[in-house]
Amino acid sequence: MIQDHVNGKWIPSLGKSSVSIVNPATGKEIDQCPLGTSEDVSRAVHAAQAAFHDWKNTPAIERVQYLFKMKTVFEAHVEELATLVTKEHGKTLSEARASVKRAIQMIDTATGMPSFQKGEFAEDIARGIDCVTVRQPMGVFAGIAPFNFPAMVPFWFWPFAIASGNTYVLKPSERVPLTNQLVFKLIEQTGLPKGVMNLVHGGKEVVTALCTHPDVKGVSFVGSTPVAKYVYTTCSSHGKRVQALGGAKNFMVVLPDATMDKSVATALESIIGCAGERCLAGSVVVCVGDESYQTVKERMTKSAPEVTVGDGMDPKNQMGPLISAESKQRILGLIQSAVDEGGKILVDGRTKVDHLPGYFLAPTVIADVTEKMRVANEEIFGPVVLLAKVKTFDEAIAWINRCNYANTTTLFTNSGPAARKFCNEVAPTMIGINIGVPAPMSFFSFGGSKDSFFGDIKAHGSASVNFFTDEKMITQRWLSDSNVW
Ligand code: NAD
Repeated sequence: MIQDHVNGKWIPSLGKSSVSIVNPATGKEIDQCPLGTSEDVSRAVHAAQAAFHDWKNTPAIERVQYLFKMKTVFEAHVEELATLVTKEHGKTLSEARASVKRAIQMIDTATGMPSFQKGEFAEDIARGIDCVTVRQPMGVFAGIAPFNFPAMVPFWFWPFAIASGNTYVLKPSERVPLTNQLVFKLIEQTGLPKGVMNLVHGGKEVVTALCTHPDVKGVSFVGSTPVAKYVYTTCSSHGKRVQALGGAKNFMVVLPDATMDKSVATALESIIGCAGERCLAGSVVVCVGDESYQTVKERMTKSAPEVTVGDGMDPKNQMGPLISAESKQRILGLIQSAVDEGGKILVDGRTKVDHLPGYFLAPTVIADVTEKMRVANEEIFGPVVLLAKVKTFDEAIAWINRCNYANTTTLFTNSGPAARKFCNEVAPTMIGINIGVPAPMSFFSFGGSKDSFFGDIKAHGSASVNFFTDEKMITQRWLSDSNVW
């Protein structure tokens, strides 16, 4: 049974109920995840609060020594971590491995905290008066994670939180809690002081308790937009810092001058990678002009059926299953809605995988998608390629900007001026130029806009220092001359 990790010890959850953890490639239960209670949260926050004083007073250069040890330990266990990610989430082992390596890169960047956390100093802001700013940790922070990147997403936050002197409570998705059991076992090997990192399992009750607990200073959330809004409003009304990353609907624009073969391959990989379960996955490919639309349709129709689908543990498979039967049903409903609203299926992935156990859907390509259609507005989170045509580049940009979501967008072109205009005018804040998944690296910040992000300080990179520290301004002068030798 999965357990919580509080104050350096594994302890059973106080929750009386649990949910199944299922390997989505087989449909078989692997384990059960307890649904914790507000008392579980109180225990963990209490431990984190108790550890805060000593941890805050540990010099940053000493704090990051634990992160250096973590890097070594995690690097020695990449395969084990990746295997767990594939087992509980379904993505292919190579995708899982890449996500674990991205997680470790967060540690790399967080080890720079002694430099990032330095304050500022100005001499003589007035005659004989100096001003100093210091960046101080604030106390207990919490992280609430989604199912789609069991290892990577929590690492967007906690390494930066603890490197800057805060203590932490993590709540993974109850659908994929296994990877973080191992993460915490590995953290134990580094000798990190007890209570600095704590783990609590559960669902809504645990989330609400974290967002309302008086000793939690701030919350980082990643998940669907309705829950992101709930977390944002609940935390704000309880006086907490909050960064809540939500869902997405990502557009990829193809201009007539794009390098077509590479652009289509890149767009397809963006849409079907991790079975489409990425917040940066492309969704609607908007082609400008008839010619580019025809070319993209032909190439997608040829390439999409070539993707090998099956258990992510088998290296010959390029795409794994969806997370659950419910998710598959929801996506099948969306595909049907596209057909009912005038979309044309060019590649039908629905029946191609009937022989497989688990929750598979092969890449599906739908053409003649228009802005009013349900599929053009709802997040699909599955391997469905939507193809659309507009007459002008301005029309494409206007469509992107009318969408409620604004996470990422990509332009395929060889024109510098077109790329510059795109970057300047589109609402999404993570932009790719000929890049299908423009995921900012750990040393840049990550986050969307509109319904894809609630808050004002984004994840990792330099923004994390702002989120996890409070700035103190000290204005000082010395009134007596008597101590000057
Ligand atoms: P989700 O919103 O269902 O769950 C996220 C977390 O919220 C989980 O820990 C879950 O336990 C908790 N939760 C679920 N329902 C809740 C409720 N009613 N009240 C309180 N807490 C609740 O999201 P998911 O299905 O696990 O993840 C997929 C979503 O995450 C997609 O929408 C995807 O776009 C988004 N996502 C966004 C980013 C980003 O950077 N913007 C990154 C990854 C995933």
